[in-house]
Amino acid sequence: MQYGYKCEDCEVAVFPTTTRSELAWLKDRTHVVREVAKHSGGGLDSWMMEGLDFLNDHVGHSIVLVSRRS
Ligand SMILES: [Zn+2]
Repeated sequence: MQYGYKCEDCEVAVFPTTTRSELAWLKDRTHVVREVAKHSGGGLDSWMMEGLDFLNDHVGHSIVLVSRRS
């Protein structure tokens, strides 16, 4: 199973390579991770960058955690 974020407003989804709990963690702490990302010069894990990019693109939209069969 793969897990990802889906924007219910735009009907698009991403599936970074990580676990469901990591995605839930990032979603709850987007504002914190965004600050860390600014100062770390791209030192974040790739799944985190991918997830953060998606969350940044859909600020104010309805984002849900979704799963799909890999
Ligand atoms: Zn959206």
